[in-house]
Amino acid sequence: MIKFLDLYKINEQYRDEIDSRIKEVLDSGWYIRGEQDKFFEKDFAEFCGAKHCIGCANGLDALNLIIKGYGFGVGDEIIVPANTYIATILAISMNGCSPVPVEPSIGTYNLNPDLIEEKITPKTKAIMVVHLYGRAVQMDKIWELAKKYNLKIIEDAAQAHGAIYNGKRAGSLGDAAGFSFYPGKNLGALGDGGCVTTNNTELAKKIRAIANYGSSEKYHNIYKGINSRLDEIQAAILDVKLKYLDKDNNRRREIANYYLENIKNPDIILPKKVDETSNVWHIFPIRTKNRDELQLYLNENGIETMIHYPIPPHKQLAYIEWNKLSLPVTEEIHSTILSLPISPVMTDTEVEDIVRCINKYDK
Ligand SMILES: *Cc1c(COP(=O)(O)O)cnc(C)c1O
Repeated sequence: MIKFLDLYKINEQYRDEIDSRIKEVLDSGWYIRGEQDKFFEKDFAEFCGAKHCIGCANGLDALNLIIKGYGFGVGDEIIVPANTYIATILAISMNGCSPVPVEPSIGTYNLNPDLIEEKITPKTKAIMVVHLYGRAVQMDKIWELAKKYNLKIIEDAAQAHGAIYNGKRAGSLGDAAGFSFYPGKNLGALGDGGCVTTNNTELAKKIRAIANYGSSEKYHNIYKGINSRLDEIQAAILDVKLKYLDKDNNRRREIANYYLENIKNPDIILPKKVDETSNVWHIFPIRTKNRDELQLYLNENGIETMIHYPIPPHKQLAYIEWNKLSLPVTEEIHSTILSLPISPVMTDTEVEDIVRCINKYDK
C-alpha cells in the first residue's frame, strides 16, 4: 500500500537530532515557554520574514488569538473563503464575529479576489485569506482592498509553511498569520502546536499575553485570556525540522511536477501550475466527475488517497444557519476533488506507480 502520508518515515529522517533535542528539554527541567520556544520562535520568524513569532497550542488557537488580539467580536464581520477547512471559520465564529463566505476561483481553489469587494460592509473588519492546499493566495487585489477599506489581512497559513508570493513568505503577506504544526502539515510537530507571526510589535505582545491567561507578568491579568502555549518538546522538534523545510518542500515540488507532466488521463483535471515557489503542495488535488469510483479503484490498486474536504463548511451541521446557502463553485470542488499522496519521503517508484495507475483508469 502506498500511504497517503507516512509520518513515521518523515520523522525517522531526523530521529537522532530530534532525540538529542528532546533530551535537552528533559535535562533542562523547564517544559513550557522556555529556551527551546525562544529558539524556535526566533528561527521561524526569521524564516517567514516576520518580526515576531508567538508559539501557541494549535492552528485554530493561532487564528483565534489574532482575532482576540485585534479585539474583534459581536457585530464584526470577517471575510473568509467558502472553500476551506472548518477551523478557519470556527476561529471567527467562536469570537462572536460573523464569517462572510466568498467563493473560490475554480482555477486556484483559493478565494476569488474579484468577489470580495461586493461583500464588504461597514461592519467588515478583516479579510481572512487561506493559502489552501499549500498554494499562496494572489494577494495584489487583496492588499489594495485592505488599504482602500482599512481592513486587516489575516492569513490562515496552516497549509503553506514556506510558500513564497512576490518574494515574501506566507506568514508575512498580511497583518498577522496563523500557522498549525499538526503532525501532517508541511512543518509538523509530534503532537499539537501552532504559532502567530506578525510585524506588529504591540499586537505580538498582546497575543503573547492573551495566550498566557491574559498575563505578561505572573499573576497580573490584563486580558481575559486563554491557555494556549507551545510546549518545549514540540518547539525543540519544530526547530530541528524547520532546517529541512525548504528541502522537503522542494521534494514535494518535484513530485507535483512529475504528476503535472505525466498524468494524461482526459477525465482528470490537474491543478493549475503557478510559479514554482508559490506552492508548497501540502495537498496535490485532482478533480474528476467520478471521484468516489476513482478513489475506490486507486485503493484497490494499493494507493491511499484522501478527500479535502468531503463536506464544505456551509453544509456542515455546525453551520446549520448556512445549510441553504448556494455556493456552487465550492460545492463543485467538494464533490469532485481527490488528494493524491504527496510527501517528501515518497520514492520515485511510488510516484511513477501512481501515475501509471491513474493513466490506466477508464471509467
Ligand atoms: C490544520 C488547519 C487548521 C487548524 O490547525 P490545528 O492545528 O489542527 O488546530 C486551520 N486551518 C487550516 C486551513 C488547516 O489546514
